[in-house]
Amino acid sequence: MNELIEKAKEFHTLTKDELVSLLANDGINDVLFQAADSVRREFVGDEVHLRALIEFSNYCRCNCLYCGIRAENNLVERYRLEKAEILELAQHAAASGYKTIVLQSGEDFSFKADYLAEIVAGIKKLDVAVTLSIGERSYEEYKILKESGADRFLLRIETTDKGLYEKMHPKASLENRKRCLYDLKELGFETGTGCLVGLPGQTVESLADDILFFKELDADMIGIGPLIPHPHTPLRDSECGNLMLSLKVMAFTRLLLPDINIPATTAMETLNPEGRIMALQAGANVVMPNVTAEGVRGKYEIYPNKAAVNYAELSKKLSQIGRTISHKKGFRGRSCRKDIR
Ligand code: SAM
Repeated sequence: MNELIEKAKEFHTLTKDELVSLLANDGINDVLFQAADSVRREFVGDEVHLRALIEFSNYCRCNCLYCGIRAENNLVERYRLEKAEILELAQHAAASGYKTIVLQSGEDFSFKADYLAEIVAGIKKLDVAVTLSIGERSYEEYKILKESGADRFLLRIETTDKGLYEKMHPKASLENRKRCLYDLKELGFETGTGCLVGLPGQTVESLADDILFFKELDADMIGIGPLIPHPHTPLRDSECGNLMLSLKVMAFTRLLLPDINIPATTAMETLNPEGRIMALQAGANVVMPNVTAEGVRGKYEIYPNKAAVNYAELSKKLSQIGRTISHKKGFRGRSCRKDIR
């Protein structure tokens, strides 16, 4: 097993069967995390990129079985920020030193592409990178957003298991999710995707497929999060996703896509107060602090007790593990090595 990890560390490939046997074996975890940490250091260095997250609307037309802001959850107090409020949050974040602003929302079609494009163009004047995470749209809408200056787009595939995908996402299709991701790539967005770990009925085989899909798409960013059940969703009685398994999926992703950006996700920190640091030592190189105004932050409750980032504490913890906060926009560092391009 250790030889397979050595092979992945050197050649950045593993077969599905190899991934399945490695994911199912917890005896390899320390060796795996060390290998992912060393590949992270070699390809993307010791800097940690901070992305300022603005959650600008919790309206959503979707009914994902796990998500606290799903349309059918009537217990959520809905909100939408105005353009001026979003720009003010972005200005404040840029003035505080953030070099990337992430705009995230539910699938809220009242934000038309043209209106979002005006917001993106306003934020781009602050000399920051802009990431969008607004769900599924048409090619034409993504094109308008790209032309307005947006640099990146996050859209997790959630799971590549078609049956499971369709069970978890009523009226949605895996094909359309994939179509969106390939459109985003074609339009020149740095494209981020990722999966949820711990969906009921998910198998190790499907997690292996997820990792191979990230490689096939040549994703530029991957966010892996354990499922955290929300009490007002159909998955209220499900188990939490397993943190170790989530870290393993993330570590294999680093081995197979060595030069991409990988966040230490908030869901990992929510499950374990050291989850973020564990992730940063197992392949991650990005943290996404939430800069949404306190007054509305609690309403964007995709799962309960979402962990926050304390800047002073984070920078102290980072220096303890030999890492520093980056002051760059942190685009994907293309490797000059042909075998991993
Ligand atoms: N609507 C956009 C989209 O579909 O990409 C962005 C917002 S969506 C709420 C952001 C992410 O939250 C999803 O990709 C999903 O993986 C994650 N999420 C939602 N509910 C969750 C839960 N209960 N536990 C962990 N992650 C969750």
